[in-house]
Amino acid sequence: MINRGGDIQNARVRFAPSPTGRLHLGSARTALFNWLVARGSGGAIILRLEDTDKERSSEEFERDIMESLRWIGLDWDEGPDVGGGYGPYRQSERMGIYPEYAARLLEEGRAYRCYCTPEELKERKNAAVGEGRAWRYDRKCLGLTEEERALLEAQGRPYAVRFRVPEGEVTVNDVLRGEVKVDASEIDDFIIMRSDGRASFHLAVVVDDITMEVTHVIRGDDHLTNAVRHVLLFTALGAEPPMFLHHSLLMGIDGTKLSKRHGATSVSDYRDMGYLPQALVNYLALLSWSPGNDREIFTPGELVEEFSVGGVSAGKAIFDLDKLNWLNRQHMKALSDSELTDLVIDHLDQSFPRQKLEIAVASVRNGMETLADIEKQPLDIYVQPAGKLSEKSLKELEKSPDLKEALGLLVSTFRKYPSNDMATAEGIVVELRQEAKERGWKAKTVLWPFRLAVTGQTVGPDLTYLIMFWGPGGCADRVEATMRTLEERDE
Ligand code: GLU
Repeated sequence: MINRGGDIQNARVRFAPSPTGRLHLGSARTALFNWLVARGSGGAIILRLEDTDKERSSEEFERDIMESLRWIGLDWDEGPDVGGGYGPYRQSERMGIYPEYAARLLEEGRAYRCYCTPEELKERKNAAVGEGRAWRYDRKCLGLTEEERALLEAQGRPYAVRFRVPEGEVTVNDVLRGEVKVDASEIDDFIIMRSDGRASFHLAVVVDDITMEVTHVIRGDDHLTNAVRHVLLFTALGAEPPMFLHHSLLMGIDGTKLSKRHGATSVSDYRDMGYLPQALVNYLALLSWSPGNDREIFTPGELVEEFSVGGVSAGKAIFDLDKLNWLNRQHMKALSDSELTDLVIDHLDQSFPRQKLEIAVASVRNGMETLADIEKQPLDIYVQPAGKLSEKSLKELEKSPDLKEALGLLVSTFRKYPSNDMATAEGIVVELRQEAKERGWKAKTVLWPFRLAVTGQTVGPDLTYLIMFWGPGGCADRVEATMRTLEERDE
């Protein structure tokens, strides 16, 4: 297998979003890094939905996450919708798996039952804080005697299960950060099973990563402190911890985590705003990855070819809309008129026959930065009835020198050309300039009335597009209609 993930081969990675919101750009970036490592290393990517927070999770968000991932061109080999040999892939459907792992840890003395109620914990925490001590779980229940424990059991007291953090140094192996070493004494005995019998986030993640045979955990660096707990759990459960890659979080321009305060944050927002998925993916990849040269434009396929974790930096990733806009423009330029037309159709009010629509879109595409920008383009000129010019435009037109002769020249030139294609249109404009020159006119003397008489506007798309849209004959008809309007005014 070609080794494009740096030194990574056949990685089994997972993207593990909680469906508690629409797919955030930051999460999309995490998904992208996972996908690039999976695809570049010849491995597999799993979509795992961490939906244990029933209150905040919803099917609507699940759908948005999957649709948004697909829209940006990321697929997955295993997941709730496509299945796979390591399912189920929704944590809510895996609740039956976790208790046996907790039981094992209890049996081996690596975990213990904690009967402290939330009220008791709060009281002791307040006391500690009041005395100026930092609070961490005080291991009260680890010190219970057999009798005390038996009594609490006899009373039917609910209990949580806490992991007994062993002494010593914990090492998180991180691709970007090397060996991150933390003294275990800094971590308190965290809960692995809640008193309602549900696994905590830490236990669920680790058991899932073990049972799904995940080799690389790629996620945001807000999980770095969790990774220390996770390494402890992997080790206690007799499993080799995976390799980690904690990438920097996506920040707004003010250096705080990108949030609604900064504007649109979800992938679907950007789709609705008219960004191209390939531009968004290109942008997200470049946020903290560099190919090692100045190249900036990549299709998703090229990213798979070029991406290597060696080029990822742990430095800050600041969201820069101007850069995204620039990339969007570059990716739009790469589209044919026909491809672009397919993409802007949903943003258009006017309907034209397909071929005319392509010409209309081609005529305004230079002014567009996003697909939605089509709405701001002067496409209404193409639905303007012939000869119906505003008073202002008529006055403008009347100011043009040698107007009658210029309009006559336009009509006679257009009428010479029955065919309608780009070369003819360009030829007509050249000919009009030539004719103007021969008469001792400026080119404007004929080109200005051309635009005004045909479209009723003083500015607009390149004249060649106007000829192609209406055809030379159609342009002649429109000029004649305007001539009639002028004559009627004179009467
Ligand atoms: N579900 C966690 C999140 O949404 C991800 C946990 C992980 O990747 O280990 O942030």
